[in-house]
Amino acid sequence: MRYYSTGGKAPLTGLREAVVRGLAEDRGLYMPERIPRLPDAFFETIGTLSFPDIACRVADAFFAEDIPAGDLHGIVRETLSFDCPLREVEPGIFALELFHGPTLAFKDVGARFMARMLRHFTRGTGDIRVLVATSGDTGSAVANGFLGVEGIRVFVLYPKGKVSPIQESQFTTLGQNITALEIDGCFDDCQALVKAAFADAELRAAQRLTSANSINVARFLPQAFYYFHAYAQLQRKGLADKVVCCVPSGNFGNLCAALFGKRMGLPIHRFIAANNANRVFYDFLQDGEYRPRASVQTLANAMDVGDPSNFARIWDLYGHDLRALRADVSGATYTDGQIAETIRDCYARTGYVLDPHGACGYRALKEGLRPGETGFFCETAHPAKFKDSVERILGAPVAVPERLAAFMQGTRRAVPLGKDYESFRQYLLSV
Ligand SMILES: *Cc1c(COP(=O)(O)O)cnc(C)c1O
Repeated sequence: MRYYSTGGKAPLTGLREAVVRGLAEDRGLYMPERIPRLPDAFFETIGTLSFPDIACRVADAFFAEDIPAGDLHGIVRETLSFDCPLREVEPGIFALELFHGPTLAFKDVGARFMARMLRHFTRGTGDIRVLVATSGDTGSAVANGFLGVEGIRVFVLYPKGKVSPIQESQFTTLGQNITALEIDGCFDDCQALVKAAFADAELRAAQRLTSANSINVARFLPQAFYYFHAYAQLQRKGLADKVVCCVPSGNFGNLCAALFGKRMGLPIHRFIAANNANRVFYDFLQDGEYRPRASVQTLANAMDVGDPSNFARIWDLYGHDLRALRADVSGATYTDGQIAETIRDCYARTGYVLDPHGACGYRALKEGLRPGETGFFCETAHPAKFKDSVERILGAPVAVPERLAAFMQGTRRAVPLGKDYESFRQYLLSV
């Protein structure tokens, strides 16, 4: 399979280069040249298959030409060391729980898959270094995804004092091949340091650097796996007739993967993109004008994105045709007040504890579902990851799963650095 750039000015490239480069040289995002369609027979019996078996079929469609089946299926099975179960919240509305992985958020799937694919492509060619700037959640998913993966060393740059203690513990306590760098600055400073390193030809000649951000094809495509698995679970319940899928969205990688699933033949009827107050995509669906803007802080902070990077992929997938996009996807947007109200209301009526991101998804589904439809929304993180806000909203304690508590008890280690590029560069050259 070859990959093109949404920028339209980079040459077609193979999977290996697309994964190692991350971003195309024209700064566009890589897209597979074709989207393979799976046979109808697969969907007729999908309810009888296990999650890893389903995921292997989906992975084969994209990657089998480039990775031997044994290796590819090994990567898939190692990635899915946990389940993504569908839980009924109330009649007709299900939560696809994507928080059963190591860092309790859906990014574990993409990060684990990407780490293993990168290892596959760089094995035996010397060490490779992954630089990742994080405002909190990406760093923990990437660090845990790469933890213990041979031949790869990860540097997580995070802004001093600006990530929550839970988030910080998830990438500063790991050790092994993971190093946390505490930058005396804000998230933008961290990102600027990573960008400067990638633009530094001399440094790149000395070290093999790669990024692990969410635009990498090896991170976003595997997110399609769990949409097929959700559909299979609904089919088993006899509820697969008119399925609506609702995705709480920030950078839109997760929704984009779902839309790829539909293109592969997955019979999902329609999609809802749920936003917090950062409503660039919602507004775009209304009038077709894309107006990126500065993000605003909300309770669902992993969706505080003012210029979603995967918008380019979705727009490309629909051939820049607003009507076609609207036929598949509608939008919703909620304020912090509405998010809090939804968490309280859902808990009071059903006993289900939503996290602030899932709350946007649940509400959009509840408001948007039509008679005869069955809906599921992605519960993208465990509510305990946002313990302080959820407890404040509910006025009740939120139980912390054991694997999260274990992070909190670990010893935190980070290398303190200034925000100037020269210190960062010297540091990288010294280790
Ligand atoms: C990253 C994230 C999102 C947004 O996902 P995108 O793919 O960026 O749209 C939603 N919820 C949680 C908990 C996240 O970590």
